[in-house]
Amino acid sequence: MGKLTKWLRILGFDTVYAANVAGEKLIDIDRDRILLTRTKRIRNMKIAKKRIFITSNHPFEQLREVVLAMGITEEDIRPFSRCIRCNASIRLIEKNAVRGKVPDYVWETQNTFHTCGHCRRIYWSGSHIQRSRDIINRLGMF
Ligand SMILES: [Zn+2]
Repeated sequence: MGKLTKWLRILGFDTVYAANVAGEKLIDIDRDRILLTRTKRIRNMKIAKKRIFITSNHPFEQLREVVLAMGITEEDIRPFSRCIRCNASIRLIEKNAVRGKVPDYVWETQNTFHTCGHCRRIYWSGSHIQRSRDIINRLGMF
């Protein structure tokens, strides 16, 4: 479910991939302890307020299951808010500060840059917004 974790972050959800809590594959969304699980064997419900059972093996269908089960709408989606790699919040950074750290054509064509407060990865709207748009379009749910 690593891919599902990544996509949820692209859409802006605070998502922690806890690979092996109590022997389960779990994803924690929005610190609300909504756990996504692929098995029904969880006995210790104390670890979650809510649990979503994922049935599909296909990452994109898994995302669809989560969106449906959580009642996620387009207003809930916040692209440009989380680092895909480490889930930390990202913040605006001055264009001059990223010169030499992004490809030249990107620096020349983009004006808005964000950086991860944790791993320092740099994001720009061309890449990030387009990816979240693609995911939303593929979902075709909103
Ligand atoms: Zn990061």
